[in-house]
Amino acid sequence: MDCIFCKIVSGEIPAKILSKTSQSISFLDAFPLAKGHVLVIPKNHHQKIQDMSSDENADLFSLVHKIISRVDSLTGSTLLAVHNGKDAGQEVPHVHVHLVPRSSSDSAGAIHNMFDSELKLTESEIDELHHKLKD
Ligand code: 5GP
Ligand code: ZN
Repeated sequence: MDCIFCKIVSGEIPAKILSKTSQSISFLDAFPLAKGHVLVIPKNHHQKIQDMSSDENADLFSLVHKIISRVDSLTGSTLLAVHNGKDAGQEVPHVHVHLVPRSSSDSAGAIHNMFDSELKLTESEIDELHHKLKD
């Protein structure tokens, strides 16, 4: 499979690896948005979070939990992000969690700044979504 992150897992291409578990690894992003931008990925190739087994998912997020305090110590605040699908901004189609150190002087703002306008939903639209998404 021609996947950059699978090649990092296999050692075919180099990366600044930080930590490994049986099912996940973390390493420095090669094109960081901030000093200390880290990626955490499952070793197996899956495009989306929901494609992983719950065991792989638990392992991935336990590694995020382990690494987040190290990353967070760099600036005191961290953005966690997953582009879960191409239209969500995913360029590498292998699940990865971004850990990006943030500071008040960076220009990124809050997640709300990604969207142009505030969405106004009617009560029936909200009820329909609630019905569609709940257990
Ligand atoms: P996406 O936009 O898919 O959520 O993010 C992919 C991330 O992978 C980007 O932040 C990009 O900088 C990083 N990346 C792309 N190619 C490489 C690579 O070869 N090595 C490492 N360490 N990171 C990479
Ligand atoms: Zn892959």
